[in-house]
Parts: sequence; C-alpha cells; structure tokens
Amino acid sequence: MQRTIYTDGTWRSALTGEVRDVLDPADGQPFTAVSEGGVEDADAAVASARSAFDSGAWPRTPVAERAALLRRVADLLIRDREELGLLESRDAGKTVSEGRIDVDCVADAFRYFADLVIGEGAGRVVDAGTDTVHSVVVHEPVGVCALITPWNYPLLQASWKIAPALAAGNTFVIKPSELTPLTTVALIGLLTEAGLPTGVANIVTGPGHTVGARLAEHPDVDLVSFTGGLTSGTKVAQAAAAGVKKTALELGGKNPNVVFADACATPEGFDTAVDQALNAAFIHSGQVCSAGGRLIIEESVRERFVAELSRRAGRIRLGRGTQDGVECGPLVSLQQLQRTEEYVASALAEGAVLRSGGARPVPSESRPATGYFYEPTVLDRCHRRMRVVREEVFGPVLTVETFRTEEEAVLLANDTEFGLAGAVWTADAGRARRVAGLMRHGTVWINDFHPYLPQAEWGGFGKSGIGRELGPAGLAEYRESKHIYQNLAPAPVRWFSG
Ligand code: NAD
Repeated sequence: MQRTIYTDGTWRSALTGEVRDVLDPADGQPFTAVSEGGVEDADAAVASARSAFDSGAWPRTPVAERAALLRRVADLLIRDREELGLLESRDAGKTVSEGRIDVDCVADAFRYFADLVIGEGAGRVVDAGTDTVHSVVVHEPVGVCALITPWNYPLLQASWKIAPALAAGNTFVIKPSELTPLTTVALIGLLTEAGLPTGVANIVTGPGHTVGARLAEHPDVDLVSFTGGLTSGTKVAQAAAAGVKKTALELGGKNPNVVFADACATPEGFDTAVDQALNAAFIHSGQVCSAGGRLIIEESVRERFVAELSRRAGRIRLGRGTQDGVECGPLVSLQQLQRTEEYVASALAEGAVLRSGGARPVPSESRPATGYFYEPTVLDRCHRRMRVVREEVFGPVLTVETFRTEEEAVLLANDTEFGLAGAVWTADAGRARRVAGLMRHGTVWINDFHPYLPQAEWGGFGKSGIGRELGPAGLAEYRESKHIYQNLAPAPVRWFSG
C-alpha cells in the first residue's frame, strides 16, 4: 500500500518518492508502507480541493443528493466492517472488537449528518419588522477544509470531520497521523466508490511538521479542523490565525472520575463503580482523549475501592489486539511507551504509591518483547501538584486522589487546565445534578463513563479545545451564515439632498 496520496481523483506516490514504514505496535515490526508526502503534495492537494470547490459541482449539489452519498458511505463502511476493524487493530494496536465498534460509530456519524442536513429547512426567515422586506439567513459551505487527525481513533476522528464537512458542501484535504494512516486511506477509497466527485476528497499521508503545518497555513485553505495534542494544536492555531481561517481544535484532557461513597453502598453499586473506573482509565490502554485517568474518590471508601480496582487492573489481559481473548492492546509507539514510563517514574519520585502495574509486562507469545506494552497502573496517594495528575499521560495510568466534602470534590474535578470530560458517581440524584452542573467539562457523565452520542456536541472547555464536533454545532463549524435581505419595494432614501 504505497500509493496513499489522493489528489485530483488519482492515487499516487509522494512527489519525492519517499515512503514510510507502518509499524505494528504489538511487535514494533513494519507490516506495510505508505507514501511519505511533503509540502509539495500538500500544495497539490489544496489546489485540487480549491478547484473542486470553486468550479466543481459538490458545493452546489442539492442537499438530498449529498445526504444520499453520506448514507451510501455508511453502507460501504458496514460492508467492509471486518476488514476495517482488523486494519484499525493492526495499525493502532486496539483490539479487533474495538476496531469493529469504531467502524459502527463511523457509519453512525455519516448517517447522523445525512439526517441532520436533510432535516433542515432552506434557511431561517428573519422578521425585519416590515412587510416590504424579506430577510433570510442561509448556510453555505466554508470552502476548502484542512482536516488533521490523531492516531488513537484514526477512522472515528476522521469521520467526525469528513461527514459534516461533506454534508455542508465543502471540499477537503485530510492528513491522518503518520502512525496510523491506513483506515483513513481506505475511507477515501469508499468516498470515491460512493460517487464523490473528483477533487472533493483529498488525502496526503505524511508528517505533521511538514504536511500538517503547510495545510494549517496554506492561503487557499479556509478552515482548519485539528484533533490532537495541546502542543501541536497550539502551533496549528497560530498558523491558522495568521490567515484568519476558521479554526476548530479538539485537544487533550485530564479527566476526573469523581466517586462518592454513597455510590458504593451496595455490593452492586460498588462493583459497577469499580468496573467502570477500570474501563474509564484502561480501555485502549488509556489512549483516549476522555480517559478517566484521575480517580477522585471519597476518603471513606478509598482503601476498599483502590484495593479492588488494583486487583482487577492486574488481571487485564494484555496482548496483540488481533488475538482472541485479549482485552487491551499495546501503546501505539515506543515514544508513547517511554512517555508513560517517565510519568510513572516522576509520580513515584513525587510520593505516589504504586498499587498495580508500573512496568512493561513479561513478554509472551501474544506480547512480543519488541511490542509497546505497558501494564495497567494504579498510583495511589496522588495530589494535584504532581505532574502525573496535571498533565495528560495518554497511557494506562490511573491516579487516585481523595476528598471529604462535595465542595472539595468539585474543586478537585475542576483543578485542571483541560476540560474535556468527567464523571460523577453517586446514589443521590440531587448531588448528581449539583456536581454535574458545577463541573467545567464539555461532557459530564452521571453514573457512567465514556458513552457519547452523535447528536450531542463533543468538545472541551479550557485547553481541551475550541469549537465542537458532532451535534448541530459540529455541522455549524463547516458553514458560513449568510443574511440575504431583500427589499420588496425599493425607493430612494433621500439621505442626501443633492
Ligand atoms: P499530535 O498532536 O501529536 O498529532 C495529531 C496530528 O497533528 C497528527 O496528524 C500529526 O501529524 C499532526 N501534527 C503534529 N504537529 C503538527 C504541526 N505542527 N502542524 C500541523 N499538524 C501537526 O497528537 P497525537 O499524539 O496524534 O494524538 C493524541 C492527542 O490527541 C492527545 O492529546 C489526545 O487527547 C488528543 N485527542 C483529542 C480528541 C478530542 O476529541 N478532544 C480526540 C482524540 C485525540
């Protein structure tokens, strides 16, 4: 798979001819290669998208036809579910069952935006205060969109951008993460198969500091939508600001999971809260922007809760995501593994107490020594001044902090520069609503962790980003509003007397 750049309706190699190996994170070995695009490839892709926007049919295609195409894409995704789920597993290290769920969610996103765009009227009539004026606000596509995506949910994050961008009538260039480009390449193939006109969808596989940076600053790009880390997101925002481009940023999180003792009062409640805390922190080895990596628990239940959580964390079956029975795959790269190790070392140096994990696992047939595996790790006795509590680890590391009062719980939950997501666990309905109302996060779960709905906005407060994906706001990101004011009885105004 080396011709992974698609511009002007043609699959091709990088203009420099460079290729990059794609590694399987379960063993660190290359299993395929992709074209390593550069700045010139980014320029060619933008030119293709620009021409398709300025003189192509897509922006002017009736909404019903655009929606029908999105639905065809959803059907094709489901047709290729097994293949795509497996590819995502190989590429990103997640289990195949997670890969399949991702494909279902991607199909849902395409269907949701098809339904949303078709359910709208042809504009909003505004009361101008007189019968002689007809005033209407209509929506138009923004233009050429640069879409830059991360490696943890490659296909899903791409779909949250591509589906609304297309529904709104834009053209785009996507740059997937250099670590996990494969399913995005496959998705572009499906868009083409579904009948998307030439030049509307373009992809350049390649590095962030060249291809991504060029797309963010390119004068012919009208909108930049970025999902990734805070450091690169800040650079993208600066580059886009210089061109006054519409910008959407979906960045990291440091997400609190607040557990009150009353949620653990019954055996079932205790089991559920522990089970979900485990899921919150360790699914996909913690490489989830909304991972519940900060357990904030009422002091009176801490010991019992952490003991059970640590026991269960130690039993999570780590291994190659494609292998049956495996519950958790490796980290995506050696860099991510080393970063996790550094955070754990820093936490221990700052006084955290290791309750589970804290090392690379013993190698086995399904966990080759060259793979990027790390044990699910529980760090007790943490406090808010520790780096591991303040910064996003993006690995299987759970920190434990405690509180005594509701006020203290809220204070801790909000003591982060991020604000992506968080949860509160309690049997007290009033407290649940009070705490959820006070938490400064884009998503707050009550007695749950992780679910999202395509029809509900996703995004963060604070340094977790700017703008929203999904929901009506996720479509609005890709549109300009235009006010059309029609004077039905034109006459001179005689402001000037001459
Ligand atoms: P990253 O920032 O390293 O890379 C993201 C993308 O940006 C990649 O395609 C990369 O090549 C590109 N990039 C890097 N430098 C760039 C630059 N200077 N200009 C333009 N593009 C550049 O992030 P990652 O490590 O791939 O992903 C993990 C991060 O993504 C985490 O912080 C995670 O929280 C975040 N994330 C957020 C959400 C959300 O919904 N808020 C979802 C998924 C992931």
